[in-house]
Amino acid sequence: THFGYREVPVGEKQKLVGEVFSSVAGSYDLMNDLMSLGIHRVWKRYFAATAQVKKGDRVLDLAGGTGDIAALLRDRVGESGELVLGDINGQMLRTGRDRMTDRGHVRGFRYVQCNAQALPFPDASFDLVTIAFGLRNVTDKDAALREMLRVLKVGGQARVLEFSEVKADWFRPLYDFHSFNVLPRLGRLFANDGESYRYLAESIRKHPPQEALKAMMDAAGFARARYRNLSGGIVAIHDGWKT
Ligand code: SAM
Repeated sequence: THFGYREVPVGEKQKLVGEVFSSVAGSYDLMNDLMSLGIHRVWKRYFAATAQVKKGDRVLDLAGGTGDIAALLRDRVGESGELVLGDINGQMLRTGRDRMTDRGHVRGFRYVQCNAQALPFPDASFDLVTIAFGLRNVTDKDAALREMLRVLKVGGQARVLEFSEVKADWFRPLYDFHSFNVLPRLGRLFANDGESYRYLAESIRKHPPQEALKAMMDAAGFARARYRNLSGGIVAIHDGWKT
């Protein structure tokens, strides 16, 4: 009721994002499946399977939420590796830790409540930094990208999975209808929370499209920034390296 479509002042935004995710934490996984017809699982699997990572690596999954990406990367870093789940929201992290335990993952994970804009890690701490469906919620995305670069080791990769701009004209009206009608309705029905899901649809629309995000990665200082569209640009994977 307190946000909906109105413009939210930047200072207020981070607090609202926090409230949104506290209110959706419990229903988050179910909603992802409903909203994307399960396709988010395929995107995430591809995102993890093609990330630059090997046994023994240290990985930071930012905005890690309920831990989908971290769980997928677990086997790739092996017993000798370490996965750090970072999220600004304590409730999402707690839900993530419970999910991890349910999946049989107990060792090799650390949970750190942190803001992507100001990471509590020293320079050159990680071989891979990922952020999936998280960057669009961050107020100062440029600061977050600079922080991702800072905590990477030389040669390390940063990977962003995020909603992007749908490329096919014929698909756009359908997609908008899904975002602004079906999605809030699903939110009301299954999570008793239409407003939060309306906010999510709005945040997707406002997120910088493919080329703009790539330019932001260049500006943050990443080398060889690039992207690849999945599902016709509904989402895109952006990569950048530290050199
Ligand atoms: N990565 C998970 C996934 O793909 O299922 C969770 C994505 S969820 C849509 C977005 C997450 O970003 C939430 O858990 C939220 O708490 C977190 N988040 C929002 N703003 C953040 C910030 N500034 N720093 C760190 N995490 C943030």
